Amino acid sequence: MLKDGEKGVILQRDKQTYAIAPHVPCGVITPDLLRKIADAAEKYNIQALKITSAARIAMIGIQEEDVDSIWQDLGMTPGHAVGLCIRSIKCCPGNQFCRLGQQDSLAMGMQLDEIYHGLELPSKTKMGVSGCPNQCAETWIKDIGLVGKKNGWALMVGGAGASKPRLAEVLLEDLRTEDAIAAIRKVVAFYQENGKKLERIGKMIDRIGLEALRTAVQTP
Ligand code: SF4
Repeated sequence: MLKDGEKGVILQRDKQTYAIAPHVPCGVITPDLLRKIADAAEKYNIQALKITSAARIAMIGIQEEDVDSIWQDLGMTPGHAVGLCIRSIKCCPGNQFCRLGQQDSLAMGMQLDEIYHGLELPSKTKMGVSGCPNQCAETWIKDIGLVGKKNGWALMVGGAGASKPRLAEVLLEDLRTEDAIAAIRKVVAFYQENGKKLERIGKMIDRIGLEALRTAVQTP
């Protein structure tokens, strides 16, 4: 029996089979990976392929003995689908594709994914990047979110779309791309230092105040 997270698996309701969710940065998938996923689904008689809210493709109903071969066939190592870490970053198409986009949310999301995918933190942490204030990446309910505006990025913190939802708060505005990335580094460092186990960023803010976080982020 595999534990949740071991080899990237999540035990399913039948307590016998597993799901895996290959890491697809920002939901941008190549035809080649799509084909590999489809081929593996047929070869290993996978029960269902489910597009998740985090823009991954969950492969559901896998037998334990097939897990290693499936990862091998996909040409991937297990991603971080569960656990207290940054699992995936939700991004909208931004100004690469969307006519309303004001900033390049996809490029920003890819950079953040490279830095943060799998990073362990006090609690589950979701990130989102939207290319304009329409917030198609649901940035209001992300622990850390960026929203593209005419003059740069707004950095939002503390959102959660959980059983006890919380809207994010605007921490900083008008950030250039490199400044937004630097500010997120500081938010993450502050959370690593001050967050209690299982306490999401919003709850930490409720406990210590947004100003404490803002001061830490603005301190050189
Ligand atoms: S958030 Fe804005 S840029 Fe992104 S997809 Fe929605 S409308 Fe387009």
